[in-house]
Amino acid sequence: MRAKASDMHTKDCVKVAVRVRPFNKRERDAGSRCIISLVSTSISIQDPRDCHNRRSFCFDYAYWSHSGFTRDHTGLFVPEEPGGRYADQDSVFQDLGVGILENSLQGYNATLLAYGQTGSGKSYSMVGYGPNKGLVPKLCDRLFEAIRENQENRQCQVFFSMLEIYNEQVVDLLFRGSRTAGGLRVREELQRGFYVEGLRKIPCENALQVEQLMEQGTRTRTTAATQMNANSSRSHMLIILQLKQIFSKESITKQSNINLVDLAGSERQRSSGSEADRLKEGTAINLSLTTLGNVISALADVAVGKKVVHIPYRDSVLTKLLQSALGGNSRTVMIATLSPADICYEESLSTLRYAERAKRIQNRAVVNESPTERLVKELKAENARLMQKLSRMDQEGRRASDESKELRQLLTQNELQIRAIQTLWEQNLQEALKDWEQQYASITQERRMMQMYPYILNINEDAQLSGVVKLFIQEGDWGIGLCDSSPRSISIKGLGIQERHAVFRNEQRRVTLTPVMGSKVIVNGNTVYETIELQHLDRLILGSNCTYLFIGYPSERGGKDWSRYDYDYFQSELAAAEGIHLGESNTGSNQTDPSLLAVFYDYIKLMPMVAEANQMSQELSKGVEFKLEIKNLALSDSRGHDLQKDVVVRVTSAGSKQVWMWSKAKFINRKFLMEEVYQHFKAEQPENTRVEELPCVVLPRDKDPFWDPVEPLLLGSAHLWLQSLAFRIPLEEQLEVLGSEGTEEAILQAQLVPCTSNGLPLGEDDILIDPSEILGRRLDFQLVLDQCCGVCWIREAHNRGIQISFRVFDCSEPLYTPAVWHNINPLLDHRVQFTSLQTSQSLLDYLQSSAVVLELWGLQEGCTHMNSSLEAVRMTAEGVFIIDMSGPSQAA
Ligand code: ADP
Ligand code: MG
Repeated sequence: MRAKASDMHTKDCVKVAVRVRPFNKRERDAGSRCIISLVSTSISIQDPRDCHNRRSFCFDYAYWSHSGFTRDHTGLFVPEEPGGRYADQDSVFQDLGVGILENSLQGYNATLLAYGQTGSGKSYSMVGYGPNKGLVPKLCDRLFEAIRENQENRQCQVFFSMLEIYNEQVVDLLFRGSRTAGGLRVREELQRGFYVEGLRKIPCENALQVEQLMEQGTRTRTTAATQMNANSSRSHMLIILQLKQIFSKESITKQSNINLVDLAGSERQRSSGSEADRLKEGTAINLSLTTLGNVISALADVAVGKKVVHIPYRDSVLTKLLQSALGGNSRTVMIATLSPADICYEESLSTLRYAERAKRIQNRAVVNESPTERLVKELKAENARLMQKLSRMDQEGRRASDESKELRQLLTQNELQIRAIQTLWEQNLQEALKDWEQQYASITQERRMMQMYPYILNINEDAQLSGVVKLFIQEGDWGIGLCDSSPRSISIKGLGIQERHAVFRNEQRRVTLTPVMGSKVIVNGNTVYETIELQHLDRLILGSNCTYLFIGYPSERGGKDWSRYDYDYFQSELAAAEGIHLGESNTGSNQTDPSLLAVFYDYIKLMPMVAEANQMSQELSKGVEFKLEIKNLALSDSRGHDLQKDVVVRVTSAGSKQVWMWSKAKFINRKFLMEEVYQHFKAEQPENTRVEELPCVVLPRDKDPFWDPVEPLLLGSAHLWLQSLAFRIPLEEQLEVLGSEGTEEAILQAQLVPCTSNGLPLGEDDILIDPSEILGRRLDFQLVLDQCCGVCWIREAHNRGIQISFRVFDCSEPLYTPAVWHNINPLLDHRVQFTSLQTSQSLLDYLQSSAVVLELWGLQEGCTHMNSSLEAVRMTAEGVFIIDMSGPSQAA
């Protein structure tokens, strides 16, 4: 390949576009505000908690796809009025796609990257949905159009490849055979740079063919090797279009690679949450995406003249493959997609910052052209001579002579040779072509089947991967499960799927489903144990999380809208069966508290992940069980106000009875690490090993995502209201200690005793009629914790203990009772005296309106006790805790 001299030193900056999508259902339900505004190519984002904090960025293009659109009769999203500000798929293509197309026709490499958080519209922009075709299909349409228009002066070949990078492994999405363990290899050659060895390149002749290949690729992606629900938030999808043009007159070939990249969700590359997880260090959740960020930063530094020693292309698979797109020989465009909603502020801001850095990168794109293989030219010249000779012989009437026959043979041979040379660089061309033909046949077959039989349709968390797998239920009995070899069976993969999981029966145009003993089958949110007749649009969950929509016979399908049965719908239905309804309230008020709604969506997001974690734990014999809980569901603060609710995961080790409480972020991080362990482990097992036969997986503690050092656990709390103290009346109470979700965890006997400065209880004569009498005077009282009764925590396992913590008024640190172990009714006998030397109004208000929150903590074997830190606490010489330190001045 030779670079055109004139191009040698032209620099192209990476072009960056941003696009804001409409609100999605969750955001609308939560009453979200739009925090993004656009003026021409400048975009502003506002901090929802601080209206003065507004940041602006300027890009090459900015697209408003948030509002001002309607759906026309073909389902296309178009501007409400002609010339409106709404940017539809076409206008995005006009700006970004046309340029890429022209570049590649000129022989430049071109790259288009979509970056943004999951659900922000990357796939919508790149691939599109239904009639709203994205950049890739539009580009292909126009590419083949251009090829047809220029047929006279050039010969073109287009090759299509589609691959996925998941966990640093490359999966060929157009290859249907069994996949190579560890994925395809990425190799490096001096001339070519990095490339994927053995990647399928399918020759394409028209846009329809490309569309069908994409459909096939998406399907492979959905049913990929991983047992988890396929999800693009962790994997990158790459489409490579290779365009080879042969200009016979000028005797040159031009070759251009177009990389079209739908990146993994950007949210994961930032550390999940603020708390530290001991297993987070050193584990890159998505090495490729992190490295891409590092490469972009380094290149941005180079562009502003900073000295950069090393650009870490080699650190990840993605950056290796994109090396020429980033700071190399390519014209590159990035489209950064944004959610408009206030709740996505942090993510959107980080996307904008990322995009801003990418804008600075400079590439040096050159036309990839080379003289056509000399041989081809010579052969062609020779053929021209032969043709002349032949036509002369024809004129002389010697058409049938031996000589003429020989010439014709030579001519054909040459033709063949030319063709062979031209396709030599594609070794697997024929194979790929055959493969494609088979695929094409199966697609046609599938279209026919859809009109003949009922089927189940996969529903995926990622809209782009939803509805691509159709499993047909023909007449008779059909087993469904892992069984791929038995004749009348439908083979599926997934966590918790049994060899033979359930049986479909299709008889007299009615379809029933019967679970096989011991397998998990859920229909419309309810667990099913016996034969059930299926109705059109029933929701099926098989195993931990294989979700399908049942589609009846064509005559039953009617005009109903299927699109509402998305992944969220399945999970909400499941949550409802568990008694969790927060989504759409049917109480008349359809305004659910947004913070509750956020918890609900977290809940349904984590629900399937918890099911998968449990299945992995079982298969790896980890003996650990995961359960979703809502923290503070039933608890309140010292004034009785609701506490911030949050989704947490309770982790219990069956053997040791150890319990951990993991935050959402920690669980997500851990689940990813579990998947790694699981897949690694699976790869080592012979195929078809049954779950019961799997050996126990032992990991060193410091690498085990299923384990943590134990810590004290908050079991619940009780409120001891203080009002009586304002009247100097003693109080003795049996308090119910309530767990996070409202269950009774224990009974606590507690007292409040007004007393003298040296601890003698006050008598009836000291009772006040008017609490304001204590203002400015000394007040002493004792808090007594006598005994805890019926502690569930200890009843469950006797090797446990408890402690109680409490905070009074302005004590900065909580105080703790000593630990008591092994006793269901632990005697505490704990007495603490507090004093206020000059009682203030604010203390009086506190007494009249608040409670001491007594927190019950569970201790487990191996965990350290909690101690009161007395550094910041003031005490009298007699050891009485002084509260109300600010004194009466506060009252003023
Ligand atoms: P991502 O690929 O970034 O995870 P998707 O492209 O799948 O996100 O978009 C998530 C959802 O939002 C999809 O249902 C999609 O139809 C919708 N969506 C995204 N961008 C737009 C847009 N510009 N206009 C209309 N709908 C959009
Ligand atoms: Mg996507």
